[in-house]
Amino acid sequence: MRAVIFDGRLRFLKVFPEPEIPSGWALIRVLKTGICKTDIEITRGYKNFKGVLGHEFVGVVEQCHDPDWVQKRVVGEINVGCGECEQCANELERHCPRRRVLGIVDLNGCMADYCVLPLSNLHAVPVSMVDHRAVLVEPLSAACEILEQLELTGSEQAVVLGDGRLGILCAWVLSTVLSDVTLIGHHPEKLEKGGWRTLKTAQISANRSDGADIVVEATGSGKGLVDAMSLCRPRGKIVLKSTVVSKSKMNLSSIVVNEQTLIGSRCGRFKTGLRMMESYPDMPLGRLISADYPIEQALEAFKQTTQPDTLKIVLDMTI
Ligand SMILES: [Zn+2]
Ligand SMILES: [Zn+2]
Repeated sequence: MRAVIFDGRLRFLKVFPEPEIPSGWALIRVLKTGICKTDIEITRGYKNFKGVLGHEFVGVVEQCHDPDWVQKRVVGEINVGCGECEQCANELERHCPRRRVLGIVDLNGCMADYCVLPLSNLHAVPVSMVDHRAVLVEPLSAACEILEQLELTGSEQAVVLGDGRLGILCAWVLSTVLSDVTLIGHHPEKLEKGGWRTLKTAQISANRSDGADIVVEATGSGKGLVDAMSLCRPRGKIVLKSTVVSKSKMNLSSIVVNEQTLIGSRCGRFKTGLRMMESYPDMPLGRLISADYPIEQALEAFKQTTQPDTLKIVLDMTI
């Protein structure tokens, strides 16, 4: 099969061995797969991962022990827990200390014609949902995780830093429950795409003296936290969404002086992401996809992903 791998170097391979199917797992034919900031970070050394990249996909089950699933269009949770620990027992496989993660930790990913995942990780995609929406379930679920972590009353003011794909998704998700959300970024074209519902956008932070109740940091850069600390009110909450490989020294005294709460936030439940997509059919997810590339042009697609005006690039296995 064809595959995009990282082995110290990003490569497209025309011939790569098809995955073995462990018992209880499904073989999935990948239709579309998104390139994520995490994939770019992996090519810079994040998690020391070597193998097939990719964790965002929509595909079709080709083979598994349960005939009900065969030929179903699916998306898949990316964390595979050990199944034995306390985290796994509480359906928190994403925090299992021995977890494997699709295309990120110890498990070949979905930037290939086929990938494998446990059947229990799969969710059927509603027939009415187009592939271009379904392929965004993983990042949308990650954005929805914020709602699970923050106990919101509805009256909070929130600021989202970063007008990339994840920042925009976080702002959209927050604006489903809050009326005062501002998305702050550097790129006018991206901010324009970010506009939805009552969401406000701004190129520079209007220096509010009182500070926001909630600041979501999704800039993808180490400096984002510094800005987040200064935009957050005393005793406010800062949600960190960027996974950055950075060794910069940072002055964290604002957290202590202003008693700000710092919340790390990563993956969310797909069930929540799919429900969000169905509840808000007008959420303009299609705007986030800048281009589709055939898998053969993966290297070019990765290069395009790092361009400042790009939002999401999708590899399409069917073109
Ligand atoms: Zn991702
Ligand atoms: Zn476990």
